[in-house]
Amino acid sequence: MIVANWKLHGDRASVRAWVHAVEQAQWNLPERVTAVFCPPAPYLAVAEAARAPNTRLVLGAQACSDQWEGACTGEISARQIRDLGACYVLIGHSERRRRGETDAMRAGQLAAASRAGLTPIFCIGETADERKTGKTDAVLTAQMQVLHEYHAELVVAYEPVWAIGSGLTPAAEEIAAAHRTIRGLRQKSGRDSAFSVLYGGSVNPTNIHEILALAEVDGALIGSASLAPESFVAMLSAAAACGR
Ligand code: PEP
Repeated sequence: MIVANWKLHGDRASVRAWVHAVEQAQWNLPERVTAVFCPPAPYLAVAEAARAPNTRLVLGAQACSDQWEGACTGEISARQIRDLGACYVLIGHSERRRRGETDAMRAGQLAAASRAGLTPIFCIGETADERKTGKTDAVLTAQMQVLHEYHAELVVAYEPVWAIGSGLTPAAEEIAAAHRTIRGLRQKSGRDSAFSVLYGGSVNPTNIHEILALAEVDGALIGSASLAPESFVAMLSAAAACGR
């Protein structure tokens, strides 16, 4: 699975141009590769309308409300996101954790996503200090607690906070070890619904090959390197070429 997170970038013209450029280039993407893109919420409908009828591009959103509906000015509900054609939603991105989202809010967002029929891409990861002081596993364990009550299909994205947007990535063995921890935690929770683990943080067309070659890694969540369509297409090609 290759997921583009556009963050706060794009406008109507660039959304349409990106969709058309990627669709033209990915005609023979193998079935086992899922290509997801998450534009800013105001452009979900534009993105949905721009997709070709036989598209391989799946729509996702970058966040959803923890409330189903009601007096929540400015929020965007999971049901509305699904209604606009999205199948996935990012939950727990570090850029939202930093803005004050709590575990209680993430629990509500997970419940709303599940009720709406969206698959969450749940983001977790340690800070640089936490890694330096040997707390990575403890942080991942704590961040995954909220998933205990979550039974449906789930994608977890391991995104070290210090790797996002920095050009830095963990060593391959560190990525593999974190993914093993995450898989072990999910197994321990006794949930047997579909589960995948992505790596995110400064992935680009050059380093993606080594990352996808890791047996523990099911795909990548990509920020800045997903904005240029040719760069996203190169990473889809890397996933297509990956033997697993
Ligand atoms: C992200 O924001 O999820 C991300 C991985 O960003 P970048 O690829 O730019 O590090």
